[in-house]
Amino acid sequence: MTKAICVEPIYAFNDNYIWLLTTADGKAYVVDPGDAQPVLEALHQRSLTLSGILITHWHPDHTGGVEALKAALDCTVWGPKNEAIRGIDHYLDEGDSVALAGITFSIIKVPGHTLDHIAYVGDGTLFCGDALFVAGCGRVFEGTFPMMRHSLDKLRQLPKATRVFCAHEYTESNLRFAVTADPENDALQQHNERCQELRSQGKPTVPSTLEIECATNPFLRWDDPDLAQRLVASGRCSTTAADEVFEALRSWKDTF
Ligand SMILES: [Zn+2]
Repeated sequence: MTKAICVEPIYAFNDNYIWLLTTADGKAYVVDPGDAQPVLEALHQRSLTLSGILITHWHPDHTGGVEALKAALDCTVWGPKNEAIRGIDHYLDEGDSVALAGITFSIIKVPGHTLDHIAYVGDGTLFCGDALFVAGCGRVFEGTFPMMRHSLDKLRQLPKATRVFCAHEYTESNLRFAVTADPENDALQQHNERCQELRSQGKPTVPSTLEIECATNPFLRWDDPDLAQRLVASGRCSTTAADEVFEALRSWKDTF
């Protein structure tokens, strides 16, 4: 892992993270700017100019600042092919790549939360928008449960050291669900304590790592025998088949 890119959060709305990427040669990029103002302020504070914008999916809290940033700054916008997103210069699809100041990000399609959702992986980092969260995953709005599970399975197969930069600080409520669904998971209990400590200090719980998420996030653990058996025993699903377990978890979380 080269860690050639510095990543820091810009806070937006109640709980969104707009990720600010700066490269060794002073170029700056943002991921999912739902609001232009906090981005402009962060750039001004750091004396940076914006070279580009990366978009994961069309939801307004991820795209609302694109047009204002483009109007104010001469920057390039990459994102999924979706007419609902205005201002994209380069459409991205599965297997495409984006080179930012010499660092290559590969595109992984992760439909489920929305049909257009993509993730960016490069330099040991993953920008996954609302597909995967710390201890949770996005609601399945446009896709199907099996589609969402397949998308998360792609992310689960990335190197375990990959740092996971999701777009929201939803960790505390996700963990309340996770410890209820998977109460005997020691790694999850430890992760819960760590995250509570971070939040009590007002610090982000993001990024996490795929290693932590694979050990603690119920939405990456549909094939964990204890978790799956517990769901069957409680009548939330009838078999331990992967899609059934995932749907049972996601549906339970929706009303938790
Ligand atoms: Zn979303």
